[in-house]
Order: sequence, then structure tokens, then C-alpha cells
Amino acid sequence: MFAHDTRRMRTVLPAYEVEVGTEPLIRPARNSVGGWPFLDQPQDWPECFCGERMALFFQFDIPRDLEHFGGHHLLVFHCRAHNDASDPQLADGRLVPKYWDAPQPPYPAPFWRVLIQSHASLPAPEAEPSVCALPLTLRPFVDTPDEEGVGAQTFKVGGSPSWAQDPEEYTCACGADLVYVCQVPEGMDFAVHPGQPEQSYSVRADTYWLFLGNEVYLLACPDRCDPAAVWPVNQH
Ligand SMILES: [Zn+2]
Ligand SMILES: [Zn+2]
Repeated sequence: MFAHDTRRMRTVLPAYEVEVGTEPLIRPARNSVGGWPFLDQPQDWPECFCGERMALFFQFDIPRDLEHFGGHHLLVFHCRAHNDASDPQLADGRLVPKYWDAPQPPYPAPFWRVLIQSHASLPAPEAEPSVCALPLTLRPFVDTPDEEGVGAQTFKVGGSPSWAQDPEEYTCACGADLVYVCQVPEGMDFAVHPGQPEQSYSVRADTYWLFLGNEVYLLACPDRCDPAAVWPVNQH
């Protein structure tokens, strides 16, 4: 098993570095931090169980040459008021049924929503009010894994995760093994507009974090049994 896994993990997979631009967006863009979410109809803007509309942290079109999700649109939402690490809930060796909506003790449901959408052709009429809208650019790069199969520690889609701790693997409730899609580096700041409510446990008033600033590895169901069938692994 290990020999097989090592061989697989050393493969150099297509990868794109995700660069955050500096010029604020004034109109919808498909690749953005904050901004106008491109959602499938009739997907509404996600709300947290606390009743707050979740903040759109970022979204982009997954490049077409990437396996499993190429050509689809990834969106990452997270509640401002709820800021914690994700905690996988398992049953019979799999993530629990509908884990994207299932209780996340001590919370009655997850405080985030990650979506992979296939028909996201129109932007929402309103922009994300808190996180500053900035353009994202995806640039191909060579993500050569080290001897342990660990890839570059950067904001990227594709390639190999840069596991800060031991690699984590999960099986979707549907039975498919989740596959790695994207990672957000530890402590990545998302600038917010002045005067917006502060995030709980954040370091500064002018930034929000995802999952307490943990490194985030998004693993998703390759069978795409649900647009929200994505598990955000947190490590630091
Ligand atoms: Zn909340
Ligand atoms: Zn699934």
C-alpha cells in the first residue's frame, strides 16, 4: 500500500498558484476574493445556522486541465460570527450523511459552506459586503512533491497538498474517496472594509480568517454527489 501511495503522491500533477490582486474590483468577476458570487440557480447565498449570511471569502473557475473538477466553479463561504476549526464527524468510516449540513458539535451545523457549481453563469446582484473584492489570477506552476509527497505551501488549486501534519483521507457519505482540490495557506488574511463587524477570534479588526487561520485543504467528492460535498481539512 505504501509503495503504491508513494508512487502516486510523487507524481507532478497540474497545478495553479492563486494570486490575489491589489486593484479593488468594481464589477463581478468569476475569479475573486469577496465580490459577487456566481451560484447555480436556485442556490441561494448560504446562511449560517446563526442566521447571518456567510461571507464570500473567494471563488474561482477551476482550470479545465485539472482532474475531476476542471471547468467547475469553486466558492468558499464562512461565517463571520463563527470562527473555529473543522472537526470531521464520521460514521462507519465515512463522513456522516449530508456532512455539509450535519451537526458540527458544539454547533448544530457547519459554519462554512464550500460549493462546487457546474452552471454558475450569473453573478449575484449584490457583492459580498465585508470582505474586500479583489481579483484572483491563476498561474500554472510546477508543484513538485518532496520525498513525502508534500507539495508547495501556497494558495493553489491542483498539485499536491502541503500537509502540515499527517496526510488526512476521507470517504464521502456516498462511498467515494474525497480528492484534493485546493489549499489556502495558514494565517492568510482576507481584508475587510472598514466599519464591518469584527470577526470573533481574529487577530485584527480589518481582516477575516478562514477556520481560525488554519491551513485549509479542500477535499471534494469526485462523484459530485452534492455541490456541497467538500470537506475542509484544517491543520497547522
Ligand atoms: Zn454563524
Ligand atoms: Zn459523495
